[in-house]
Amino acid sequence: MRALLSYTGHMTQRWRSVARASGLTAPDGTTRPTIFAEMTALAQATGAANLGQGFPDADGPEWIRAAAIEAIRAGANQYPPGRGIPELRDAIAAHQKRHYGIELDPATEVLVTAGATEALAAAVLALTGAGDEVVTLEPFYDAHAAVIAMAGATHVTVPLRPDPTGFRLDPVAFAAAVSERTRLIILNTPHNPTGTVLNDAELITVAEAAARVDAIVITDEVYEHLVFGEQPHHPIATLPGMAERTLTVSSAGKTFSLTGWKVGWVAGPAPLIEALLAVKQFLTYSGGAPFQPAIARALTEGDADIAELRSSLAARRDLLVAGLRAAGFTLVVPEGTYFVCADATPFLTSEMPDGAAFARALPARIGVACVPLSAFCRPGSVTSEALSSWVRFTFVKDEGTLRRAIERLGTLRE
Ligand SMILES: *Cc1c(COP(=O)(O)O)cnc(C)c1O
Repeated sequence: MRALLSYTGHMTQRWRSVARASGLTAPDGTTRPTIFAEMTALAQATGAANLGQGFPDADGPEWIRAAAIEAIRAGANQYPPGRGIPELRDAIAAHQKRHYGIELDPATEVLVTAGATEALAAAVLALTGAGDEVVTLEPFYDAHAAVIAMAGATHVTVPLRPDPTGFRLDPVAFAAAVSERTRLIILNTPHNPTGTVLNDAELITVAEAAARVDAIVITDEVYEHLVFGEQPHHPIATLPGMAERTLTVSSAGKTFSLTGWKVGWVAGPAPLIEALLAVKQFLTYSGGAPFQPAIARALTEGDADIAELRSSLAARRDLLVAGLRAAGFTLVVPEGTYFVCADATPFLTSEMPDGAAFARALPARIGVACVPLSAFCRPGSVTSEALSSWVRFTFVKDEGTLRRAIERLGTLRE
């Protein structure tokens, strides 16, 4: 027993050092809880309305859940094919055609993954390594930075800057960040955490930079159907010349409020999909056997459910935006996603000097949880400084929770 314990300890030390080198653990080698886990724990401990972590508090449509139960009863319980079941790949290809006019061969150009997260990880691990640069927007979704670190590649960021029309991309800064060393550009639109839906000019900026240096674009479009404003979502793969260098990643989690099912996918040129499959087969091989036929049906027959979620989320966005403004925040109205970002400057003090301190204090002080935008930035970066007073709230919660949170936020100035 003693020998086993010391052996395990030895292995743990070795493992820690690798993770630490990649920046995935705290400097002392312990596992770093994500800011989302930290804020959720605080929210639970204080009974706060949790507008921090972005998961829906109402499950997706009953008929889709019934389809998965039916699939279990019908025997969909063993490994599905590594690329995903043919009916789901067909449904994904048909979805891309119907919504965006994108033509895909479901046999070679579509891969089903364990959520968008696995698609992103397999893509980055398959296509980059030490010496390569990967460009993302900043702030960025935390998993994007983590897989770049795991691949040993160098993360280069370009800021999204708040202005009255939204958090916008500066075309000059983007062009300057992309060079011959850039192997990949990871895009995310609609964008978490800012709620920006990239407009055509911004997409053209990215496409031109990618073509100039022959970079591959990975586009994370998990919020593709959750857009509320004037700006429609356009996949960058639809721009001239981009289909041949773009991997489009999405997932059923956000579209159907089934985040725990982890059914995602990636679509793009067959040789790139082949490269991802080589990595993916040793990450999970395959998964989600009973969920795949259910999501195949959801993608085919679920447009009305998507429309209902979109309009209910738009109403909840409007409610939270009005509540935050009434409470004294300045904010950027999000064009899509689950999130609204607000500037907490009016509430900062010498003891609570930035958004991170504000977010940590809020649950105990008024019973509301949010997350600081600095959690989506590189520590110490220009963007992290520029957005240090900003926090993100989610509106993918029931109306009662939102109203309770708004009432509590209204007491902040007292
Ligand atoms: C939620 C989220 C994901 C994760 O998607 P899964 O399908 O749950 O793996 C990926 N990217 C962004 C931007 C997200 O917000």
